[in-house]
Amino acid sequence: MIKNDIILNTIDNGIIILDKDLNILAWNYWLEIRTNIKEDDIKNKNICEEFSYINAKKLKRKIKAVLITNNPSYYNVDPHKFLIDIKTSSIIDDIFDSMQQDITIVPYDVENKLVCLYIYDKTSLHKTNYKLEKLNDELRDLSNRDPMTHAFNRRYFGEFSKRMLSLAKRSEQCVCICIIDIDKFKNINDNYGHSIGDKVIILLAKKLEEYVRTSDIVARFGGEEFVIFLHNTSLGCAHKISEKIRSNIQRLEVDTSTNRISFTVSIGLSQYEETKDSNNIEHTLKRADDALYVAKESGRNQVVIAE
Ligand code: GH3
Ligand code: MG
Ligand code: MG
Repeated sequence: MIKNDIILNTIDNGIIILDKDLNILAWNYWLEIRTNIKEDDIKNKNICEEFSYINAKKLKRKIKAVLITNNPSYYNVDPHKFLIDIKTSSIIDDIFDSMQQDITIVPYDVENKLVCLYIYDKTSLHKTNYKLEKLNDELRDLSNRDPMTHAFNRRYFGEFSKRMLSLAKRSEQCVCICIIDIDKFKNINDNYGHSIGDKVIILLAKKLEEYVRTSDIVARFGGEEFVIFLHNTSLGCAHKISEKIRSNIQRLEVDTSTNRISFTVSIGLSQYEETKDSNNIEHTLKRADDALYVAKESGRNQVVIAE
């Protein structure tokens, strides 16, 4: 009943011929070598009984539609992305365990209600797309971060804080901003050299990330100045966090070639207030910066809350 054996067995994709009850009438050579199942061993068997992960109801419905319209149709095999599970070699393929397939169902013999299923191997295309997406994610992340400390950069902070502020306003949550600046940092550079200065900045960035929740963001605004956006945080709570940061930082030690040095930070803290900041987080930031100035003027190593 199945003609064109040569075409069926030399073509570079999988071919299955099914009757309307999902019995297999043909299973080509391409499938034989990839599944290790001979056509003679699978012929006249029900495809859904042989491969229990195939949705029989869905496949039957699709075959019916193809036979009624007498037109080929794409068959969606989400979420597995395969009709027949063909394992890829894990040495060659580290992304997908199974061959990623596209399936088309075409009418084969409408009178006898037979259809032909074409299976196309799309693994390398899916793999390329997956790698491209990952690369894009990495690039996006890279453009948002400062290369030395991996903290977010000022531009990203601007975008993030605007988005977070409108979210916070809708849910009536408090938002606080902390500006942290190393005290007398010039002395560290002058006394121990620029590379020790860098080491101090990198350590500070790492510690700040540790002290805040993962949903808060730490950004490097310039040399030895960092800003933290604390969402859903009251001023009282932000003050406690700032104090914890200040007191933990003064206990840190950094190795130089000759000794161990410590350093302190001053912190300016402000809470977003509609009346003072009129929908602009830059104003909240400016008030935190003014508070930082007061902290410096009042002797450093302290937290000052903005007016
Ligand atoms: P203050 O307590 O008033 O903040 O004193 P300060 O010495 O920290 O003052 P200032 O902010 O003026 O000094 C910051 C210095 O940080 C100046 C600059 O040369 C240095 N700096 C900026 N970026 C870097 C960097 O990436 N690495 C190092 N090592 N130093 C940097
Ligand atoms: Mg400083
Ligand atoms: Mg500074």
